[in-house]
Amino acid sequence: MKDLSKLLEANRAWAAEMQKEDPQFFSRLVAQQRPEYLWIGCSDSRVPANQIVNLMPGDVFVHRNIANLVHTNDINCLAVIQFAVEVLNVKHIILCGHYGCGGVQAAIDDNSHGLVDYWVWSIKLTYKRHKHWLDKLPAEKRPPILCELNVIEQVSTLGCNRVIQQAWSQGNAVQLHSWIYDIHDGLLRDLGMCCGASDDPELLYKQALADIKERASA
Ligand SMILES: [Zn+2]
Repeated sequence: MKDLSKLLEANRAWAAEMQKEDPQFFSRLVAQQRPEYLWIGCSDSRVPANQIVNLMPGDVFVHRNIANLVHTNDINCLAVIQFAVEVLNVKHIILCGHYGCGGVQAAIDDNSHGLVDYWVWSIKLTYKRHKHWLDKLPAEKRPPILCELNVIEQVSTLGCNRVIQQAWSQGNAVQLHSWIYDIHDGLLRDLGMCCGASDDPELLYKQALADIKERASA
């Protein structure tokens, strides 16, 4: 407890500052949260959702796990998606990966990582599926490209998600986005797979994949 006193002090100072800048800030948040965005990102401490897009508390609903994965059997992630879409009525779902992702690295090296190996299994499968062209790239290019591939794979999974499919069929205009964050310069890049009700996720996946391949071989 003693070791964490600095954090609690920092919290008190932050809350006081927020109150000073905007006396109604906390009372507004108590009344209701109305985020426009659902952020699905990596747990990596260097990729904090609110900070890197400069959003305040209340602006973004966040789900993070190792390597920003959307597993079809992950009740946690699925419940977050359902709540965000059906109750919070978010307008955008941002699937954000990042270069230098330890989870992606764990999927392609030969080391043992305990339970993480099970969690990132789908990335191993992605790597296997694209191995025929990935392995022709210089070794240092493979992990960042796999980080990008992992993002569009997850957006593709989101596009098939029943909650999202149903929302689209009922006229909800929620959009899916594929972003990747560079921890070297703090910048986000849009991987171009932006998917809404009238789009074909499969077609957008193919286009995004072609773009990734083209940049990889440049
Ligand atoms: Zn990561």
